[in-house]
Amino acid sequence: MNIADALNYGQTALTDSDSPSIDCQVLLCHSLECVTSYLHTWPEKELSNEQQQLFEQLIAQRQNGQPVAHLTGQRGFWTLDLKVTADTLIPRPDTELLVSLALEKLTPQMTIADLGTGSGAIALSLASEEANCTVFASDASPAALAVAKYNASNNQLNNVQFWQGSWLSAISVHCLDMIVSNPPYIEADDEHLSQGDVRFEPITALASGADGLDDIREIIVQAKHCLKPEGWLFIEHGYHQAKQVQELFFAAGFITISSHKDYGDNDRVTVGQLPL
Ligand code: GLN
Repeated sequence: MNIADALNYGQTALTDSDSPSIDCQVLLCHSLECVTSYLHTWPEKELSNEQQQLFEQLIAQRQNGQPVAHLTGQRGFWTLDLKVTADTLIPRPDTELLVSLALEKLTPQMTIADLGTGSGAIALSLASEEANCTVFASDASPAALAVAKYNASNNQLNNVQFWQGSWLSAISVHCLDMIVSNPPYIEADDEHLSQGDVRFEPITALASGADGLDDIREIIVQAKHCLKPEGWLFIEHGYHQAKQVQELFFAAGFITISSHKDYGDNDRVTVGQLPL
C-alpha cells in the first residue's frame, strides 16, 4: 500500500465521519510521523508493514467513533500543541473566541483564573501571550489537572498554577482581575450527548443539569466575590443561552455585558465587568 492507496482506503472507510478526508490525513500523518505536505509530495511512497498496520488500526478505531484527537493524543489550540486524553474535553476552535476576547482586556501583571481548565487550553493560551500575568487553573478532576500540568511544562509555561476543586472553591485568591471558563453547559437530556465524538468525552465536562446552566449559575455567583472591582468575567455557553446568561450576569451585579459570536455565527461567549 502506498500513500495514495492509503488515503483512498481511509477516506472510503470513514464516510460516516463529518470530515473523512481530514481525519484520514491526520491519522496517516500520525502513522508515518510526517506533516500533511509529505502526503501530497510522495503519493507513490510505500508504507512499511508497521506503518500500514498502525494506520489500519487507527482507521478501524475511528470507524468505531473514537475521536481523532484521542487516537493521535494531541490537538492544536491557539498557538499550542496540547496533549489530549479521555480525561478532558477536546479543545474546540470556538473556544479560541473566548481567548481572543480575554486578550483584549489582558494587561501585564494581571491575575486570572481559568475554571474547569481541562487540558489547560484557555489558561495556557493566555499565559503564553502574556508572560507577566499569573494564571490559576482549576479543575475538579485530578486526572484532567495532570494533563493540564503536562501541557504547561511541555509548552515551557511557568506562569500557571494549578488547583484542584470545584470552580472557585479551589482558589484562595479573592482579588482576581479576570475569570475565564468553558464550563459544561449542555442540557442533561440532550440527545447529542449519546451521538458522535462527544460520547468519548467526560460527561462532567459537557452536561450541566436540566437547562445546562447549573454550573454557569454557580460560577457567576462565586465570581462576583472573587473578582476585584472592574474585574472581568468571560463564560462560554450554548448557542441559545446568551439571553439567560446575560440575565444571570445582570442579576449578580455585572455591567458592560455583551455576548459574542463564534466561527459558526452562534452566540458563544458572554462577557461582563464588575462596577468600580
Ligand atoms: N461546545 C461543546 C459541544 O457542543 C460543549 C463544550 C462544553 O460543554 N463546554 O460539543
